[in-house]
Amino acid sequence: MLMKKFFLIAATIMSFMASAFAADNAKMVALTFDDGPNTTTTIEILDVLKENDIVATFFLCGKEINTSTREVMKRAVEQGCELENHSRSHSRMGDMTADKIRMEVNFTSHIIKQVSGRSPQFFRAPYLNTDDLMYETIGLTFIGGLTVNDWEESVSAADRSREVLARVKDGDIILLHDFEGNDATVEALKTIIPEMKKQGYTFVTVSQLFKQKGVTPTANAKITYNNVYDK
Ligand SMILES: [Zn+2]
Repeated sequence: MLMKKFFLIAATIMSFMASAFAADNAKMVALTFDDGPNTTTTIEILDVLKENDIVATFFLCGKEINTSTREVMKRAVEQGCELENHSRSHSRMGDMTADKIRMEVNFTSHIIKQVSGRSPQFFRAPYLNTDDLMYETIGLTFIGGLTVNDWEESVSAADRSREVLARVKDGDIILLHDFEGNDATVEALKTIIPEMKKQGYTFVTVSQLFKQKGVTPTANAKITYNNVYDK
């Protein structure tokens, strides 16, 4: 009896130490993709994520959501990915009225909730263009990220992966695009993901990144997070 108790206590202490060790040392990032959903590039990216057994976060534009792309959204959720808000029309929002801003954001949040059952918690401003009124009006946490100009055709897959690998650090949010035809990013991921895994990185969704790093994201704080530790 005493022996059993001893083992129980020892096991508890060891699992506590293991989790504390993991929390301190685990390098963690969130891969994110903007401008979908679509039935081409988004699906190819979901395939790559699945092959590598990892999850990511998709920042969706309301205007891209239709009957067929809803199915892609459902697949993403089934794979454990997260769906977040990238406005309705993908316009610069820095000079919009509060009503217009609300309309842009609510439209997309509403459909995401409808399709996935979960309300978005994060917002990525189109062109990362923000102003105070947007921060005051949109009740979501603003997310930016590490970008490698992956919207420019002239930036090759090799350039994209090289630059991500050169610049990435613990807690980063990596900002890529899954708009139709962005094949170079799909190719780059096939290098980025295995290499980062080798370096000890874990891939999580944006909400998991905040949670597992013990950071409470703030909305209305006039901050766009590129890394979970940004202040
Ligand atoms: Zn965008």
